[in-house]
Amino acid sequence: DSIYGIGRWGKGLITVLPNGDVALCDPAHPEAAAISLPQILHDLRQRGVASPLVLRIKSFLEAEIRHLNSSFSDAIRKTGYRAPYRGVFPIKVNQQAQVVDRIVEFGRQYDYGLEAGSKPELVIALAHRLSQEALIVCNGVKDAEFIRLAILSRRLGFNTVIVLESPKEAEIVIEIARELEIEPLLGVRVKLTNEISGKWQDSSGDRSAFGMNTYQLMRVIDRLRNEGLLHCLKLQHSHLGSQVPDVNDVRRSVTEACRYFTELAREGVPLTHLDLGGGLGVDYTGEKRASENSINYTMEEYCTNVVETVAYAMDEANVDHPVLVTESGRAISATSSMLIFDVLETTLYDAPDAPAVEPDDHHFLTDLAAISGYLVPERVQECWNDARFYRDELRALFRRGRVDLRQMARAEQTYLKLMARIKEITHLVEQNSELDKELQKIADVYHCNFSVFQSLPDVWAIEQLHPIVPLQMLNQTPDRRAVLSDITCDSDGKLDKFILDGEIAPSLPVHSPPEDQTYYLGVFFVGAYQETLGDLHNLFGDTNVVTIDLRPDGKYDLLHEQEGDTIAQVLSYVEYDPADCIAAFRKMVDEAISAGHITANERQTLVGAYRASMNGYTYFE
Ligand code: PLP
Repeated sequence: DSIYGIGRWGKGLITVLPNGDVALCDPAHPEAAAISLPQILHDLRQRGVASPLVLRIKSFLEAEIRHLNSSFSDAIRKTGYRAPYRGVFPIKVNQQAQVVDRIVEFGRQYDYGLEAGSKPELVIALAHRLSQEALIVCNGVKDAEFIRLAILSRRLGFNTVIVLESPKEAEIVIEIARELEIEPLLGVRVKLTNEISGKWQDSSGDRSAFGMNTYQLMRVIDRLRNEGLLHCLKLQHSHLGSQVPDVNDVRRSVTEACRYFTELAREGVPLTHLDLGGGLGVDYTGEKRASENSINYTMEEYCTNVVETVAYAMDEANVDHPVLVTESGRAISATSSMLIFDVLETTLYDAPDAPAVEPDDHHFLTDLAAISGYLVPERVQECWNDARFYRDELRALFRRGRVDLRQMARAEQTYLKLMARIKEITHLVEQNSELDKELQKIADVYHCNFSVFQSLPDVWAIEQLHPIVPLQMLNQTPDRRAVLSDITCDSDGKLDKFILDGEIAPSLPVHSPPEDQTYYLGVFFVGAYQETLGDLHNLFGDTNVVTIDLRPDGKYDLLHEQEGDTIAQVLSYVEYDPADCIAAFRKMVDEAISAGHITANERQTLVGAYRASMNGYTYFE
C-alpha cells in the first residue's frame, strides 16, 4: 500500500487486506468487512465473465452523490444561506444506462436532476422520472427539434431549462414557444473571463467556445423583454471549467459569475437559479495539491467556498439568494468504475548470464564486457556512461555492416546483464539523478489484455493519470518494475506514467507474475468520460461491464452484467455485414474443395473456426 499510495488516493473506498488482496469498502457501512477484488474476479470467472472488464460499484456512486449533496446542505446551513442546492448530473460524463438510472434513483431524495448537452441526452433525461423539484438543464447547440421537445416536456411537469447559448438560439426559442403556446423555462449561458489553470484551461475564459459575451447577453435580454418572455428567464449558467486544480480559482470565478447575476437582477431579470457548471475535481494521484491530476481542496471546501462567495455577493448587492446548481460530473462518477485486466506475458529487461566474448569480437564488445570488472558502487555513473557509449557504437557498426547479428546479440545481452547489476545497487544512486531516472525507465514490458484507446482514451489523448495497482500480492514487496503495454499493435498503446510517492514515475513496481494464477492490474477512477470517448482502434470493442453493490454484511450483490462486444458487433460498426463475411469465406473454402486443395472435413473445421471467431470477444480469451 505504501508504494502505491492507496491510503492517499483511495478515499477510504479502496484498501488492502492482510493477505495482500486489494479490497472494496462500503462507505455507507464502514464497519462492514472489505471485499476482496481478486475474490470478486474469481466469482465472475466462474460465471464465465472474463477480464478485461469494467467493474462498477453502485455504492461508490451513491456515496459521491450523498457526499456532494450533504456537503452543500451543511455549507448552506452553516452559512445561513437562504436557498437550497439542486445539482444536476451531466449525462455526457457517463451516459451508460446502469449509471444514469442509478443516479436518478438514488438522487431523487436530493431533488437531483440531469444535464443534457445534446438531443440524445435530452431523450435519455426525459425517460427518467425525476422529483418534482429536480431540473433538466439543456446546454449546447440546439436545433428546433431539441428546443421543441424541451418546451413540450414542460407539459409533463419536467423543469426543463433551455440554456440560451446565443442570440440566434433565442430567436428559435421565441418562435417555437409562440407556436406551442407553452411558457419555456429559460437560462442564459454567460461566458466568464476568469481563466482556470489545469488541463482544461481553454474551456474557461475568453477562449472558451460556449457562452455569450456581455453584448450578446444584452441583446438576448432586450429581445426577451420585447417579446414579453423575460419572466421565463430564471437561470444564469456560468461554467467554471473542468477538474479545477486550485480552490481559489473557484472563488474567483464564482465572484465573477455573481457580478453578472446581480447586474442582471438590477436589469429586472427575475433570475432564481445560479448554475456554476462543472469543475469540482478529483484527486487522481492523492498529491493533494493544485496540479493537473490533483486538487488542493476537499468536496466540503468546494461547497463552502461556493456558498460563502455567492451569499456574500448577493448580500452586498441586496439580491435574494439564488438556488444553487452545479453540474459536477467527474466528482460524481469517476470513482465508481475501475478497469481490470490480466497480464498476458512479460518481456523481462534482464539477461540470464552475460555471454562469453569471442576472440573475433569487435573490441567495443570486449570493452563492454570488461565494465563488469570495475562496477563498484562509487563508479556506477562511469560504468553506465561507458556502457551506453559502447552499446551505441556497436549499434552504429551493425547498421554499417561492420558487426554481425550474432555479435550484436552478445552485445545486447551483455548490456542488459550490466544494467541488471547496476539496478541491484541503485539504492546507492542519487535519487532523481539522470542515472536514477534512466534506471527507472529500464523496465520490463508487461503485455496486458486491454486497449488504451478503448478503455482509457484520456490517458492517450491528454496524459490523464489514474491510480494503477496490482490487485493481489500487496503483502509482498514487488520485485520488478514494468510499463504496461496493451494488445493493440500501436506503440502509443501503453501505460508508462505512474504516480508513486507523489512523483510521476516511468514504470510501475510489480511482482513476477505467479505461475499458478492470473496476475491482475486495476486502473481506478475511470467512471468519468472514458467509456463513450473510447474508440475502436484495432477493432477492440467494449469490454465486459459488471455492476455490483456492496452489502452491509461484507458481501456483494451482482446487479448487472453487460457482455463486451463480439467481433461481429464490432465489424458491423465499421460497415461490414458479418453474414456477408461468412458467405465470402465459405465461398473461398468451397472453391478450395473444388480445386482439391482441402477435404470436406477441413471445410467444416475452417468454416467452424471462422464462425466461432465472429461470435467471440474481441480481447484475448
Ligand atoms: N457542465 C458543462 C457545461 C460542461 O462543459 C462540463 C464539462 O466540461 C461539465 C458540466 C462537467 O464538468 P466536470 O466533469 O468537471 O464536473
